[in-house]
Amino acid sequence: MLAYTYVRPGVFELKEKPLPQLQSDRDAIVKVTLCSICTSDLHIKHGSVPRAVSGITVGHEMVGIVEQVGSAVTKVRPGDRVTVNVETFCGECFFCQNGWVNNCTDPNGGWALGCRIDGGQAEYVRVPFADQGLDRIPDNVTDEQALFVGDVLATGYWAAQISEIKPEDTVLILGGGPTGLCTLQCVLLANPKRVILCDIDPARLAFVREHYPDVLTAGPEDLPEFVRANSDHGGADVVLEVAGAPETFRLAWECARPNAIVTIVALYDGPQTLPLPDMYGKNLIFKTGGVDGCNCHKTLELIAQGKLDTTPLITHTYPLADIEAAYDLFEHRRDGVIKVAVRC
Ligand SMILES: [Zn+2]
Ligand SMILES: [Zn+2]
Repeated sequence: MLAYTYVRPGVFELKEKPLPQLQSDRDAIVKVTLCSICTSDLHIKHGSVPRAVSGITVGHEMVGIVEQVGSAVTKVRPGDRVTVNVETFCGECFFCQNGWVNNCTDPNGGWALGCRIDGGQAEYVRVPFADQGLDRIPDNVTDEQALFVGDVLATGYWAAQISEIKPEDTVLILGGGPTGLCTLQCVLLANPKRVILCDIDPARLAFVREHYPDVLTAGPEDLPEFVRANSDHGGADVVLEVAGAPETFRLAWECARPNAIVTIVALYDGPQTLPLPDMYGKNLIFKTGGVDGCNCHKTLELIAQGKLDTTPLITHTYPLADIEAAYDLFEHRRDGVIKVAVRC
């Protein structure tokens, strides 16, 4: 089968590989129908993910059809259409039991697919702990509608959930990329009084105004003043920092009102400064981390009910044979690309 492979830093190649086999009775083999490219894949390509193993098939955002299951798998059967979770988790350890699956203590736990074990930019993928990592797609939900459930949409849902958004809140989202847009949709589910989305790219702000006309948009310049003018208590009640740019951590806490929740979703390239003397007395609550991606069944339900729709994010579609061109477009953000779907 064809599999897009991390050869060495800077080099991905579409290679012919043998079909994956079941390695444990809790595994499933999934025939990938549609996959996507994530910014994390670019991080692997550029050698900034030290855990990434050379030779692995990349890709951790995909949907497909169950081909084969191990004898201990009970939740899915061959023929089921499924989403694949970005995270691998056992479902049994202390962290899994608390819903903190990002910190699953199993040796395979955390972000393994497409990083430490073969992922899904390929025709087939082996999914460990299939009862945890796969969710059946409802009949009225298409592959395109379900494509982001396991990764960027899971992140947006988790970020909105831990941010404790209330109806009277002004919510500020920093970053209008794919994860920022998924976060925006999940924030809107909580129905806060106002939502402000900030991005440096005017095209992204135009996309937000077109699809979410009730959302206020702003660039990073004079953002604290804009947020103060559009909130009831001198700043945002909740801030979600999804951008991860050099200045956005500072903007996140500067735009927050005293006692606000500031949720850091972004993955930064370097350490950030927490200037405690400057923020003394502001009594902020910081929440940080990587997604606990165990609510995929809930997001699939919301999609089936028409309450979440991430299909406008798919701006381009390529066949697997042309994945090189899809990467080139995505990496260089050409032609207004937001997300690319790759047909396998
Ligand atoms: Zn990702
Ligand atoms: Zn676990």
